[in-house]
Amino acid sequence: YLNDPSDEAIRLTNDDATVSRLSAMQLGYFEDPFVKYFVKRPVRRMPIINRGSHIRSRALDTLVQQFLSLPGPSATSSKKQIVSLGAGFDTRYFMIKSGALDTETACLKHSLSNYFEVDFPENIVKKARIIKQRKELQDVLLQPSSSSPGNNQQEIRLEKGGTELSSFDYHLIGGDLRQWDQVVDRLVAHGLDRNAPTLFLSECVFIYLPPDSATSILKWIERTISDCAFALYEQIRPDDNFGKIMIRNLQMRNIELKGIHDYPSLHHQEQRFLNLGWDHAESVDINTLHDCFLDDQERARIAKLEIFDEMEEWRLLSEHYCVAWAYKADKYKQSFGQQFGLKHKS
Ligand code: SAM
Repeated sequence: YLNDPSDEAIRLTNDDATVSRLSAMQLGYFEDPFVKYFVKRPVRRMPIINRGSHIRSRALDTLVQQFLSLPGPSATSSKKQIVSLGAGFDTRYFMIKSGALDTETACLKHSLSNYFEVDFPENIVKKARIIKQRKELQDVLLQPSSSSPGNNQQEIRLEKGGTELSSFDYHLIGGDLRQWDQVVDRLVAHGLDRNAPTLFLSECVFIYLPPDSATSILKWIERTISDCAFALYEQIRPDDNFGKIMIRNLQMRNIELKGIHDYPSLHHQEQRFLNLGWDHAESVDINTLHDCFLDDQERARIAKLEIFDEMEEWRLLSEHYCVAWAYKADKYKQSFGQQFGLKHKS
């Protein structure tokens, strides 16, 4: 895969995602005190993009909250780990650690033992540099995650020429997801515990990988981590007019959605987990999340944030993105993905 000319365009999708997150945050869709540190030139996005960023973020945050709130593997340990694949400049670790994602009943950082983020080395170098330059980020990173002794190591280490960064519970790893064996070696070197409950995140990432690479990753997780869950967000429905335009626009930027034709519908997104032996998989599109997951109060709140008259375009766009979630252990049945509304199959 070395020197694939489209890799740079794929890496840059991270800037898009971060600028969009900042735009939605600044308009009041959600709070995120950290995203501003990762954007050099803020741009206000169109209302449909802001709404999309909001719902995507709410849905994924909810899965993270549900995962971290579940009972731990034993009475003595409630520690869990999260692995974010293609994490880019995602701020979720900082949100958890600072308490910004806490629910009424759970202080989430106490359930977290390790948070790993994997992305191309070029993006990790940039993220590590920003963290090293920002006291505000380092202060959050160095907060002890629990009162237990041994968790108070006050150190952030930059390793391998800045392509890796680690503290006692946060690990940035530069690697190529298409070379999964190498990524696994680095995850294990940074402390990935095959026996701890583990949530994997892929937010707009698998879609850029050759389908075989995504399959290898999902197969490895299912076979290796006994207690695992997955949360995924990506594009679907490439074959209607809107889908074709979406693909053509990306091609003009040298970006190919490599996975979209193999997993074009909600049904396919679910089957890819089930065919690999995961116990349960479900998916919904963003319209379903908007209609069934957001409550009336939240829909009324966001309706006031900015003038919004592109309802038809919004419905079309939202049909083309989905959230999928899957798990292997029975304990997830009760809560993981539970509030996401009726199943709407395509
Ligand atoms: N997950 C982040 C978010 O939602 O804000 C970033 C999403 S961005 C659209 C896609 C990310 O996946 C980019 O940061 C890109 O570098 C990363 N990515 C795509 N293919 C990858 C690969 N083969 N290896 C490592 N990272 C990859």
